Amino acid sequence: MYTVYIAEKPDIARAIAAHIWPDATYQKNKYDITNGDTVICWCHGHILRPKEPEEYDTAYKSWSEYQIFPPQWGIVPMANEKELLTAIASYLKKADIVIHAGDPDREGQLLVDEVLRYCSYKGPVKRLLINAKDDVSMQRAFASMEDNKKYEPLYESALARQQADWLVGMNLTRAYTTNARKYGYDTVWRIGRVQIPTLALVVRREREINAFKSKTYYELLGTFAKDNIPFKAKLVPDEDLPIDEENRVLDEHVLKAVKEKVSQANATVETVEEKEGTKQPPLPHSLDTLQVLANKKLGLSPGETLATVQALYEKKYVTYPRSDCNYIPSSQKDDAQRILVMLQNYGLPAAITANPAITSKAFNDAKVTAHHAIIPTGVEPQDLNDKELKIYQLIAEYYCYQFYDPYRFKKVSFTIKAADCLFKGSGTLPITLGFMQIYGEKEKPEDNAVLPTLKPGDEVTADYAIAQKKTTPPKRFTEGTLLAAMTNIWRFIASDNPNREKLKEVKGIGTPATRDQIIAKLEATNGKGHKLEPYITKKGKSTELIPTPIGCALIDTIDQSLTYPDTTAVMEYELSNIASGKISRDAYITTVIDLVNRNVTHAETVVYPAPPGKKIFACPICKTGQLLRKYSAKHTMHFWICSNKDCISPVTKQTVFYEDHDGEPVLAFCPHDNAPLSRWKGKYGHFWKCRVCNSTYNDANGKPDFTKKKKSAK
Ligand SMILES: [Zn+2]
Ligand SMILES: [Zn+2]
Repeated sequence: MYTVYIAEKPDIARAIAAHIWPDATYQKNKYDITNGDTVICWCHGHILRPKEPEEYDTAYKSWSEYQIFPPQWGIVPMANEKELLTAIASYLKKADIVIHAGDPDREGQLLVDEVLRYCSYKGPVKRLLINAKDDVSMQRAFASMEDNKKYEPLYESALARQQADWLVGMNLTRAYTTNARKYGYDTVWRIGRVQIPTLALVVRREREINAFKSKTYYELLGTFAKDNIPFKAKLVPDEDLPIDEENRVLDEHVLKAVKEKVSQANATVETVEEKEGTKQPPLPHSLDTLQVLANKKLGLSPGETLATVQALYEKKYVTYPRSDCNYIPSSQKDDAQRILVMLQNYGLPAAITANPAITSKAFNDAKVTAHHAIIPTGVEPQDLNDKELKIYQLIAEYYCYQFYDPYRFKKVSFTIKAADCLFKGSGTLPITLGFMQIYGEKEKPEDNAVLPTLKPGDEVTADYAIAQKKTTPPKRFTEGTLLAAMTNIWRFIASDNPNREKLKEVKGIGTPATRDQIIAKLEATNGKGHKLEPYITKKGKSTELIPTPIGCALIDTIDQSLTYPDTTAVMEYELSNIASGKISRDAYITTVIDLVNRNVTHAETVVYPAPPGKKIFACPICKTGQLLRKYSAKHTMHFWICSNKDCISPVTKQTVFYEDHDGEPVLAFCPHDNAPLSRWKGKYGHFWKCRVCNSTYNDANGKPDFTKKKKSAK
């Protein structure tokens, strides 16, 4: 029986070889590892790509062609992978059975399935889902191989994603770029399904910040004490006081009067309320939670973090990195003992007090898909570099938190009355620390960490102070917080919007494997050897992201439905419906084509803002259009025309062509009848003429001179 394994990458192929032939009785060749009638080969990620438009029809070479909907989709080998593909095809010809060892996610499913289809392989296929390369994980993967047919919907959804991105990207990038050119743009308008709503987040945030006006307000703070234990509470401004819509006092004098009053009165406890609460330990990491934390704590870009986890994965120290899952299969509960002992030997403090008998909420089969959370394997790391060490620690610590009790605390809310004024405060008092004893990300509690025993009627000593505060604008995104925003994009949608729940369910826009690249693309200054204009950039030397003028122009101009996460949300939701077999790819692609057509119409009819750095000339006649500079090849000269196609002179009832002078339009109208003037060349040089009343005017530096009438007319 001739068996062919196809892995996503060479390192997985080597892991498979080491697993099935532990005695290393195999032969390593350029494109395979072979032993008897079993051959293990590999891809390099995607080795096939969708055809470019001009590969369907040479007429599509021109970017003014943009409603391109391939009736039959084609894929072709990537230029530098042809030899590899030929080798795989030759093994497939002989194969009795194929083992599909693409990575355990949507893209991994597609990139091996498309090779099988491209090579017209029709035999049986089994799916091997490798979640980590250590011995235990490999054994598990082999023991749970399934018929690849089960994963057909996942393949369909990956293919739908690829085709949708092609249709949106190719068509709309061309449509907007071509039409923007008419308005003087000379850059490519890069339109992507996930890129645009991500860029819009940055643009809208910057505008919020620019529109923000800081307010100064005042608070009256009481420091009270009982049994020599001090604690704090804040005045709740009475409705009779002058307060703004957020219950803030803007006038310091008002609080000075209150302070005067309460200082002379006794302070007594009015109400006390106690509630017990628990906080569960944070779940183990998915790629995005790890990227966000590593950006915040270590200053690593999302791309650096992914590369580092990938290296740790290839060295067998952690499980599959491109995971959007924060849960672990319950079958792996028994691994805890072994992994925690390894981490103790490794010297991780969080592992020492961890208790493997505790089961956290992370062990939940219902929430695990083809892959699970990123966790340590049982293999003890050796020789890690600095970055790897820090990332490994973050992964290992979050795994350890699963073996601690939740944090249990008592929340006390109380009010204090002085004169007729009410002060409100609270305190959080630990009952048992649980995971908090080792948790690294402690938030500073805003309320009291220590409180005396309080009961209504207790008299307390009091001291008052007025604090000046300022409202602060929203913060700019960093790469880390922008990535978090993409994952939790439902938070940016109004709560009455039905798409909010969908977005929550599909875990944001984009996938863990691509989000860092989306952000990098928005910041890119070159691509495929061409200079690109970035859409977002870092502000000075900080990590804060700001939009560029062209990035703002893009968001202002393109169809607004594309700029809000809703459209992409619905698309992601439909993709997950394809993956679960609820809808067909064809039905989905039809809706994408509708969306492209609607956006093409918009791209052709919208008025583009003046290119950043270029002057804008409003039409003097219709006031809504913009004058556009054009070139006439016939007259070898530039001229200007209104962007409104229906705009005509109310006098001549004809389209007005404006003369160009040093790259700017000359707005010349006859003083008698307001008809547009045109410039002529006579034997004494240039002059201007009205076609309605036939008046002529001298030319002064390319503009009509109305100070004296031209005498030698015609
Ligand atoms: Zn006009
Ligand atoms: Zn005239």
